[in-house]
Amino acid sequence: MTMELNILGTASQLPTTNRNHGGYLLRWQGENILLDPGEGIQRQCVIGGLSVPAIRTICISHFHGDHCLGLPGIIQRLSLAKVTEPVSIIYPREGEDFLKRLLTCSDYHQTLSLHLLPISREGMVYQAGKLRIEAIKLKHRIPAYGFRIVQPGGFRFDKEKLIAAGIKGKSVGILKEKGELQTEKGIITRESVSKTIPDRVFTYVADTAPGNHVKPLMDHADLLLCETTFMENERDLAEAYDHLTTGTAAKAALDNQVAFLIATHFSERYRNTRVIEKELREVFPRSYAAEDLTRFSLVLKTKTLNVETLRKKNG
Ligand SMILES: [Zn+2]
Ligand SMILES: [Zn+2]
Repeated sequence: MTMELNILGTASQLPTTNRNHGGYLLRWQGENILLDPGEGIQRQCVIGGLSVPAIRTICISHFHGDHCLGLPGIIQRLSLAKVTEPVSIIYPREGEDFLKRLLTCSDYHQTLSLHLLPISREGMVYQAGKLRIEAIKLKHRIPAYGFRIVQPGGFRFDKEKLIAAGIKGKSVGILKEKGELQTEKGIITRESVSKTIPDRVFTYVADTAPGNHVKPLMDHADLLLCETTFMENERDLAEAYDHLTTGTAAKAALDNQVAFLIATHFSERYRNTRVIEKELREVFPRSYAAEDLTRFSLVLKTKTLNVETLRKKNG
């Protein structure tokens, strides 16, 4: 199964000629989850050949403009497309007034069934199909949350071990349900005849100061999308405005045994993000500085990450 992260924009507060405000479309397990639609995200989807009407879940980390100004366009497009299934919006409860204004800021024919999910505490906030969406508090100037999106693992029986233990037919079902089974060879546990399948995890760490609070978000993530607004030589600015630097993000990815780090949310001062990528890789080699309109596809079974552009295909 492939986890597909589409990068719509990578700018922080100020867009540049090459970088749109941030915005990310995660396509995984049949779900289309839009994260932090900054200004212009609807058009970025169009350029990238990504379907806006397919979006059913929208996660907003916080209500700074670069993370939510694109919401009205997305909602109005969904409404225009006469989407009949509910569309869920997950956001910090403290930003309720901002959300209401974004949803009603211009005249349109609202036909959508909106499922509003304000976050008031950490933990699981929503089940999107097979995916569990958890929110964990970030340290920013206003209330903000990071998202950990999990495809829960489980176990798979090992046929050979079952045969060796003499378990077959209905007994397999009983073992599956009860976790252990009395056999002629003694008590057989489910774990002893099965293979554990780990949780698969996508994490999004939006604007935050560094600290231990990111640990439960990042822990063993297969793919970590993380803000790195500043490079190391601007550490003072990062501290002043509650942001991560390349070094703090890469070190956190390393410490939390992340498989791949995708950096984003770059300050407008950086023209070329290759220098950012280089600095990240000095600490955590499996790092990438995201570019607008690119797609990262992670084959979970083999942990192979492919990067492709979305621009060429669509002219
Ligand atoms: Zn921001
Ligand atoms: Zn912010």
